[in-house]
Amino acid sequence: MYFSKSFIPILKNNPTEATIKSHQLMLRVGMIKQSSAGIYSWLPLGFKVMKKIERIVREEQDRIGAQEILMPTIQSSEIWKESGRYEDYGEEMLRIKDRQGREILYGPTNEELITDIFRSSIKSYKSLPQLLYHIQWKFRDELRPRFGIMRCREFYMKDAYSFDINDDEAIYSYNKFFLSYLRTFKRLDLSAIPMSADTGPIGGNLSHEFVILADTGESKIYTDKRIFEVQSDKAILNKENLNDLRNKFDKYYAVTDEKFNKKDFDEKVPEEFRLSTKGIEVGHIFYFGDKYSKPMNASVDYQGKKEFVKMGSYGVGVSRLVGAIIEAKYDNKNEIMKWPISVAPFDCGILPLINKNDTKNLDKAVKISNLLKKNGLDVLIDDTEENFSSKIKKFNLLGIPFQIMIGNKNEGDIFEFREIGIESKNISINEIVEIIKKKKV
Ligand code: ATP
Ligand code: MG
Repeated sequence: MYFSKSFIPILKNNPTEATIKSHQLMLRVGMIKQSSAGIYSWLPLGFKVMKKIERIVREEQDRIGAQEILMPTIQSSEIWKESGRYEDYGEEMLRIKDRQGREILYGPTNEELITDIFRSSIKSYKSLPQLLYHIQWKFRDELRPRFGIMRCREFYMKDAYSFDINDDEAIYSYNKFFLSYLRTFKRLDLSAIPMSADTGPIGGNLSHEFVILADTGESKIYTDKRIFEVQSDKAILNKENLNDLRNKFDKYYAVTDEKFNKKDFDEKVPEEFRLSTKGIEVGHIFYFGDKYSKPMNASVDYQGKKEFVKMGSYGVGVSRLVGAIIEAKYDNKNEIMKWPISVAPFDCGILPLINKNDTKNLDKAVKISNLLKKNGLDVLIDDTEENFSSKIKKFNLLGIPFQIMIGNKNEGDIFEFREIGIESKNISINEIVEIIKKKKV
């Protein structure tokens, strides 16, 4: 892709309407465009990143055996009346009437709809467990949409739902998602801590929020620092192992505001490990038993009896993660972004110095680009006539993790190469390919 042909509308300065770095950067490099309060269009650069995040989220859902479906954004009010949440959900729900005067709504979450799908299809306990997920737009009429796509009204979410025969099996499902979330955030190069959380309007009694530390986060958190050291690498998908894994985290005090209790905090956490700070919630998992299955009559036959299924739900803010990664990785002072290569919009930038009427450097750039592409890498060539320093400044903002410079003195197949934010070195193109490919896996 040539920069001059790309749709990456970069602004000269930080937009004044944005107060946090992710919002500033996303507007500055043209990742998103606000269309109305809390509602955004995703432009190519932002959309590429979000799609890559979505892919990782999907792979980690599939890996624990969850099956993907797609439910609509528009739901009927009937099922929400059955569960009793139509009134309870309040003003965050966008309620609409169709031409027949029927009450419909733009889904803020999908517990009711999935329960309805389940009850009409699954009759026997032998079909359990069922783990289903979808990745779909949600609408919540937030009182104060702010921080760009971090708290907006229309956002992209992965939500999953589990159905089991009893508590024990249901907790096993819960723990599978717990593991899949740890894996997901790790692949996004984020350190997200699972914290005990309130269940809020979803209901139920077991819940964890996954939070990444950031000064600009909206959640106040209280934690034992040792939770950051817990390893989750060797987890295996069996009951006992997953229980152990969750216990390794749960043994440390880690809670959000609503669950905070100063006496507990002081008693359970030695002073040197106490950390009270702010964070961004990127995921939330709940176990709520038969809260929906009972009023909505979702049951299976089990030993001649009717059993209401035990359910959990599991959300990841796919679009919020784009902003959360920026909050975690953007160096505001030096204006350098560094996307984890797993989600970077491009793997490598090629920055040739272009002299008027001389295509030598650009020709080289195209050749290198073809070689990188052959190796499965995604490349952006800066074919503008800007000088090196403004090209580098621009690519530092774009956050493409690697840069190859092609100047007039460049000879043979040795190029100036840098991993963003790190000193450059002169190495051969083959070495460059190897370095990037190694980072990519
Ligand atoms: P919050 O406390 O931030 O309002 P929530 O508890 O209401 O979040 P859930 O219902 O658990 O959120 O939704 C799952 C995930 O969806 C959240 O962890 C978050 O990452 C994302 N999310 C929720 N609300 C928004 C929003 N208004 N804008 C963007 N992402 C959101
Ligand atoms: Mg909310």
